[in-house]
Amino acid sequence: MKIEFNVLDRQFRQFQDEYEAAALRALRSGWYILGKELEAFEQEYAAFNESKYCVGVGSGLDALVLAFRALGVGPGDEVLVPANTFIASVMGVTLNGATPVFVEPDEFYLLDAARLEAAITPRTRAILPVHLYGQICDMDPILEVARRHNLFVVEDCAQAHTARYKGKMAGTFGDIGCFSFFPTKNVGAFGDAGCIVTDNPDLAGKVRTLRNYGSKVKYHNELENGVNSRLDELQAALLRAKLPHVAELIAQRESVARRYLAGIRNEKLILPAIRPDCGHVWHLFVVRTADRAGLMAHLEQAGIHAQIHYPIPPHLAPCYAKLGGRPGDYPIAEAYADQVVSLPLYNGMTDEEVQYVVDAVNSWQ
Ligand SMILES: *Cc1c(COP(=O)(O)O)cnc(C)c1O
Repeated sequence: MKIEFNVLDRQFRQFQDEYEAAALRALRSGWYILGKELEAFEQEYAAFNESKYCVGVGSGLDALVLAFRALGVGPGDEVLVPANTFIASVMGVTLNGATPVFVEPDEFYLLDAARLEAAITPRTRAILPVHLYGQICDMDPILEVARRHNLFVVEDCAQAHTARYKGKMAGTFGDIGCFSFFPTKNVGAFGDAGCIVTDNPDLAGKVRTLRNYGSKVKYHNELENGVNSRLDELQAALLRAKLPHVAELIAQRESVARRYLAGIRNEKLILPAIRPDCGHVWHLFVVRTADRAGLMAHLEQAGIHAQIHYPIPPHLAPCYAKLGGRPGDYPIAEAYADQVVSLPLYNGMTDEEVQYVVDAVNSWQ
């Protein structure tokens, strides 16, 4: 059997008629940017995410960039970011000229709240919890540190749509929540798209202005650091068609994850841990092993494509060489980067395919 890491057309086919109807509606409307579909999507997504406002943008990266820009975080400012995240989280900070300060993760692969305080300096302005792999960071102590030091909190929710922590929805803890609708995410569009959510009308208005050349009113350009980053009508229409099915799509992911957790028995692996009081929406199913090359080769031999999220921690990425990061600076993040493996998990994966992966992992010696 051959098992790809992801097979996106399977999720498309589950609700194909609805996507095609939505796409046709958008195509035939004759209006393609900043129109009725986006307006409706923003209202629907705000309600869906239990937030007051949603502003659609071109990607998850742009959501992060514009979130920090709207908060006025820029040159000379420091932002606390997890040392084991996807590079886009960090670029949201550095594209504004601000400086990322890395903080080690906990055993759930999430920003370790207990290590925040030691990283704070007089220049610290914000904390960026990244709800990596589909689980929310330990927000109570993070918010407590933020309040005590008067710091903004921007959540990177690109992997955690509808994840909850003590009953509260991802993106509703801090000043702004940033989402990606990249096709492989748990709420995926059929192209690039993203959004911010917030309860603060001024911040929503600021991002709305920044995404459109810094103008609220056409040709009245107020902000010089505006960009062109809109969630287009076609993607908005497609996302509107997907929203009513998100709970079901996430339940499918949970069912695969449950089978993995119940079926995988191999002492060479560490399975993902779930924090009590915390849901997990299983964007990725990440295991850890000291012999990653061995596991990857074994899976490859069985026709299974696993992936690594992520092999190089941001402080060792060539693009951030100027920050002076060295091997050994963040040993926990570096160990994770050397040891993590993401098993295939996608919508429409069959029980037979899941069992095949379980058997392959269990037969690895
Ligand atoms: C995907 C992702 C992003 C970036 O989203 P894009 O829409 O691809 O720009 C940011 N942060 C995390 C954690 C992500 O997984």
